[in-house]
Amino acid sequence: MILSLVAAALAAAQAAAPQPFADAVAPPPGETRADTAGTPATTGGWTLLVHGGAGTIRRDRITAEQDAAYRAAIDAALMAGQAVLAKGGSALDAVQAAVELMEDDPLFNAGRGAVFTHDRTNELDAAIMDGRTRAAGAVARLTTSRHPVAVARAVLRDGRHVMLTGADADRFGADRGVEQMDPAWFATPHRREQIDEFLRREAGAKAVSSYDIDQKFGTVGAVARDARGHLAAATSTGGLTGKRWGRIGDAPIVGAGTYADDRACAVSATGAGEYFIRVGVAHEICARVRLAGESLQEAADAVMAEVLALGGSGGVIVAGPDGRSAFSFNTEGMYRGRLTSDGVHEVAIYDDE
Ligand code: ASP
Repeated sequence: MILSLVAAALAAAQAAAPQPFADAVAPPPGETRADTAGTPATTGGWTLLVHGGAGTIRRDRITAEQDAAYRAAIDAALMAGQAVLAKGGSALDAVQAAVELMEDDPLFNAGRGAVFTHDRTNELDAAIMDGRTRAAGAVARLTTSRHPVAVARAVLRDGRHVMLTGADADRFGADRGVEQMDPAWFATPHRREQIDEFLRREAGAKAVSSYDIDQKFGTVGAVARDARGHLAAATSTGGLTGKRWGRIGDAPIVGAGTYADDRACAVSATGAGEYFIRVGVAHEICARVRLAGESLQEAADAVMAEVLALGGSGGVIVAGPDGRSAFSFNTEGMYRGRLTSDGVHEVAIYDDE
C-alpha cells in the first residue's frame, strides 16, 4: 500500500506538466529598478542568468582591460549555457556548463583562481539543484577536482546523499570521471598576493576580513529555465580569503547559496556566506514567491535587505518558471549576465547599468 502510494506520487511528480511561459506582461511593481529590473515574462523558450561575484566593484577601481575581460568571461559563460539550452537541453546541464567554464577562468573565485585558506590551500565548494525534483548535490572542501560543480552533479545523480566533503568527495568525483588536478593547479599569483596581505595584516594585529583584501566576492553561479519549463541552479566558490578551521560557506548549502524549485524559482547567491546561511537566502526567496505570491524581484530585494540588516553584503540571480528573472544585490556591483531565447542579451557589472 505504502509502496503503491509512493509509486503513484513518483509517477505524478514525473508527469508534472512543464509550465509554458506566460504571455508577455508588463513587469509588476517592484521590477522597475534599472539595476535589478526583472524581465517581463517571455512567450516561449529558455532563460539563463549567470554571476561572477558581487562587491565594491566601481569604475574607478577597474581598468578598461579588466572591465573588458570580465564582460568577455561572463559572456562566454552565457554562451556555454546557450549551447545547451538552444538545442533543447536541460536547465541542469546548462547551469553546469556555464559554471564549469567559469571554474576554469582564473578571474573568478571558483576552481582555478580560488582564494586561499589561512593554511594557504585552496578548498572548493559547489552545489547544483534540479527544480523538477528538488534533487540536489553539494560538495565542500575539495582540493583536487577540476570542476567542483561536476562532482556536485555526480552526487545529485547518485542520489544516496546530498552533501559530501573533503578528500572523500574528491575520490567520489574521481570514481565518476571528474578530472583530478594537482592542488597547485588551482593557485594563481594574484590569490597568493591576497593571502600574503591577509596574513600580514593579521600578524600586525589588525582586524582583517577577506573583504578588506579583495573588495569583492568572486563566487560563480548560474540559474536557468529550460524550454520544458524546468529550473536549475548551480554555484561554485573558493569561499573567503583566509577562511580557517574547515569553514564552509553558503554556496554548497542547499537553501542558502543555491536552491531550485519548479514551483517558485531558482537562485544562486554570492556574498558574505555566513549571512546567507543565517538568512537561508535562496530558499527564503523561493518561499516568498511560492507562499506569499511575491514577484521574483520583490522577494529577492526583500531577502537581500534582510542580509544587509544583519550586516551582510552580496547578491543573487533568480529565474522563474514563467521565464521571468531578476538580479538583486546590495553592493556597488555584481558581475552578471542574462540571455533568453527571445533576444535578451545583457552583460553588466556596475549597479547603474
Ligand atoms: N559566498 C561565498 C562564501 O561565503 C563567497 C563569495 O560569494 O565569493 O563562501
